[in-house]
Amino acid sequence: MPESMPEPMNEPMNETPQKVLVVTPHPDDADFWCSGSIAKWIADGATVRYVLCTDGGKGTTDPNISSADLSKVREQEQADAVKSLGVQELVLLHHPDGSLEDNDEFRKELVRQIRQVQPDVVLCPEPYRKNLAWHRDHRIAGQVTLDAVFPCARDHLHFEELWRDEGLEPHKTPTILFWGTELADTVIDISNSLDAKIKAVAAHKSQMDGRNEKEVQDFIKERAQEDVGGSGFEFVEAFRKVTFRV
Ligand SMILES: [Zn+2]
Repeated sequence: MPESMPEPMNEPMNETPQKVLVVTPHPDDADFWCSGSIAKWIADGATVRYVLCTDGGKGTTDPNISSADLSKVREQEQADAVKSLGVQELVLLHHPDGSLEDNDEFRKELVRQIRQVQPDVVLCPEPYRKNLAWHRDHRIAGQVTLDAVFPCARDHLHFEELWRDEGLEPHKTPTILFWGTELADTVIDISNSLDAKIKAVAAHKSQMDGRNEKEVQDFIKERAQEDVGGSGFEFVEAFRKVTFRV
């Protein structure tokens, strides 16, 4: 028996997926956690759809803005971020912020997205964080995305009407990458797309809490150095990878 367990080593993911689906609970989540990987893959020819689940209408400490006005601001910020990254499609589901539920309505919406895009990789929040606080929309979006990928999008008799009425064929997604995880096992080198990530995060102006541009840059850089582990990369994004037999 070894005296101590070896340090867990994060495995680099080097291949570029062709079709990518990103499920983000709020405007800014995906840009904070995975936009470096997204920018890198787009530069390498990937097609990406963002699905924004909620309107972000509760994400402020400003007592002078209404939820309706904030939603408009935040959905526009997400559109700006997507444009700067070169993401080809943005779909807005318009659920009220804080109101996602693990139910058939939401699951069906995500199954529809998966069957439309037929992705190689789906990115979404880690549903099973234990010791770090996690917004209920993050937890639930992660869980419902996982269940939508497997088994619901895979088997045509789940939400049969999508297949029968909308002509959406079932799809087997090979890989999910969970962001915001306590159990990262995979890193993606974002050294060449860090600037694109900083720009995407900075597009969410309402979420900067008074930080100036330099402070945002430093914050993103520091975060991107935390998970490099033994990978040898300068800047990374880290994920827990789940694979499915296809
Ligand atoms: Zn969020």
